[in-house]
Amino acid sequence: MTDCIFCKIAAGEIPADIIYEDEDVLVFRDLNPQAPVHVLIIPRRHIATLNDLQQEDAELIGKMSLVAKTVAEQEGIAQEGYRTVFNCNAGAGQTVFHIHMHMLGGRPMNWPPG
Ligand code: 5GP
Ligand code: ZN
Repeated sequence: MTDCIFCKIAAGEIPADIIYEDEDVLVFRDLNPQAPVHVLIIPRRHIATLNDLQQEDAELIGKMSLVAKTVAEQEGIAQEGYRTVFNCNAGAGQTVFHIHMHMLGGRPMNWPPG
């Protein structure tokens, strides 16, 4: 997707504060953090929303959760706790249409979310 900002970050065309990467997944700090730790876990491959997931994406989505666990340990928030969120479509607040798992931590998280 040539006009996708997260594809451009994955391709190295736009800078980002990348804290983890492998052949499938990239993790970088959110430009507008909502918590002391706020990172985005994305697949390198463009998938617009959770609604676009296919059965063959199961391993990739599972891997994103395992990466979240690793990054939480790396960021020192694994024990105190953190929140992971996928926003799907505009009604849930999705603004970038390349799936991303938010990981937020470093402060108490309220429930229910806004
Ligand atoms: P959404 O609202 O789609 O769930 O989340 C998109 C997130 O991407 C927002 O938290 C926003 O701050 C972040 N974001 C948007 N553009 C950029 C960018 O160019 N770089 C980084 N690092 N984060 C971005
Ligand atoms: Zn993309």
